[in-house]
Amino acid sequence: MTKNKFTNKTNLELPVWLESAPYVPTFRVLDTLYKYGRYALQTKVITVADLVKFHGHLCGGLMEATVALKAAFDLLFPDGIIDRTDLAIVSNNSTCGGDVAAYLTGARTRFGSHIIDTTLDGGEFIVHKVSSGETVHVQIKPEMYPSEVKAQMHKLLSGEYMPQDIDRFGEVQWSYAKRLVQKPASESFSIQFLNDFELPEPTCDDLGKRSDNDYKNAP
Ligand SMILES: [Zn+2]
Repeated sequence: MTKNKFTNKTNLELPVWLESAPYVPTFRVLDTLYKYGRYALQTKVITVADLVKFHGHLCGGLMEATVALKAAFDLLFPDGIIDRTDLAIVSNNSTCGGDVAAYLTGARTRFGSHIIDTTLDGGEFIVHKVSSGETVHVQIKPEMYPSEVKAQMHKLLSGEYMPQDIDRFGEVQWSYAKRLVQKPASESFSIQFLNDFELPEPTCDDLGKRSDNDYKNAP
């Protein structure tokens, strides 16, 4: 029996196509070993199933953000190991994309490393590698975004909808998610490095700084 690449999916309601789609991202991440720990000796793998557990459901926004960050990480971490102690991100305030941004980068709004910018689109992120200053701007290509997703969302938000419209919205979201994993991430997103990027002011009050990384390079 072949090993399932989307492990730990017990009780998750996931579409069958997720098993066989050719470009479903997985992420190898590096963290610290303890709260006041040095870098961990081992990396860990995050799958779409893990993201669904954190976020609560699979949706177009979750997959859009997942593929967007895959495109960004491929540039920032060419060795394939994503250092979650070394990232800041700017996203809009989407429940779905914002959750993926926080989970995959380790950035937090309360520590000023996850900035909320409501002028960004849902499929748009600025990913900043703190140690090198390298910064990547990723944005979904307009032709990739199906207009029916937005139209159906507006219909629900207007309050003038039939019960089946809720189901229809779910269907078009999953259809969009499926579409995103049929080709390499870099083909669905416009990607560019930003020069001399400075992280914007935190969008949360100053509640202190992250400290669990302080000993990651301790001898
Ligand atoms: Zn969602």
